Amino acid sequence: MDIPFNKPYMTGKELWYISQAHANGHLAGDGEFTKRCNAWLENFVGSNKALLTHSCTAALEITAILADLRPGDEVIMPSYTFVSTANAFVLRGAVPVFVDIRADTLNIDELLIEEAITEKTRAIVAVHYAGVGCEMDTIMEIARKHDLLVIEDNAQGLGSTYKNRPLGSIGDLGTLSFHETKNIISGEGGALLVNSPRFGERAEMIREKGTNRSQFFRGLVDKYTWVEIGSSYLPSDLVAAFLWAQMEEADTITQRRLNIWNTYHQWFASPEEKGKVRRPVIPPECKHNAHMYYLLLPDLEQRNTFIQKLKEQGIGAVFHYVPLHDSPVGQKCGRVSGELKNTKNLSGRLVRLPLWLGLEQQQAGVIEQVLKALGD
Ligand SMILES: *Cc1c(COP(=O)(O)O)cnc(C)c1O
Repeated sequence: MDIPFNKPYMTGKELWYISQAHANGHLAGDGEFTKRCNAWLENFVGSNKALLTHSCTAALEITAILADLRPGDEVIMPSYTFVSTANAFVLRGAVPVFVDIRADTLNIDELLIEEAITEKTRAIVAVHYAGVGCEMDTIMEIARKHDLLVIEDNAQGLGSTYKNRPLGSIGDLGTLSFHETKNIISGEGGALLVNSPRFGERAEMIREKGTNRSQFFRGLVDKYTWVEIGSSYLPSDLVAAFLWAQMEEADTITQRRLNIWNTYHQWFASPEEKGKVRRPVIPPECKHNAHMYYLLLPDLEQRNTFIQKLKEQGIGAVFHYVPLHDSPVGQKCGRVSGELKNTKNLSGRLVRLPLWLGLEQQQAGVIEQVLKALGD
């Protein structure tokens, strides 16, 4: 077999829309396709404002500027996440404070957040791992009580919900990724979701090099000038044209991914019953988008042997995050709250299986090899 871990899915209309953008003669950001994508996101997620960015990393950086952080301010987040979650805030001089994850969802443990709060805490970043929602009601309540911002790093969760509310629409701000490893893609790409209207205008300015260009074009101001700190965070309209083809098929893409996810889940119920492996847990209040299928092996050694066995069969199964608190920069710039027991334990046991559109034809072979590698 030769089954890669990921294979980007193309709908077939990407080049057609790119050729339209080409014919429009508008290649820079905020052209026709960017506007279409922004409007689609506002409708689909239900955010007050959605702004395409060139990556989720860029969108996180905008949230960090919007948060008006001062050096030494603290931002609470899981250690079990992608580097961009922390980098965005460290770039502003803030200190990431790492909190442990829940054993079931691998999301930040909401019950450990309050003990991590100090007078320097300014924000909580909720990362929806594998597109499965964090316990948002509790997180929002804690944030309101302590006057903190909530930022949802929803890089993986487009199309998922928590208590019927789309992920990314619940916190003050949210971010999305359209990196080619995500469900809906444009190679590199992302979006900022603005849920608290008070951030809308500043978000536009920060994304446009700190200028009031958008307001100028809307005729709201008569000068186009430097009004904020910012950077160039918007994608070319060519990238948005590609993304538009994907958005048109978003529901089909999610449905097909869910079918693959559910097939894995049914087959691995038996080895789970025998204690050989643990499957993902989806809380009843969460609907997910099948971003990822992972298994938890009994320990690090068995996990690594398992990956090796699948590799020998030509199947790309991979581990995931090396916890940030353990990384060189995390140790230098961050702070740990509590013991991070689950973070340390689960990160070494997790393995992700191939999940991409087109895998359907070969999935039975993957399942067979997984069961064999588990000795089931
Ligand atoms: C993919 C990912 C990012 C980064 O997304 P880019 O679009 O590549 O910048 C950030 N956070 C999480 C949780 C991710 O999974």
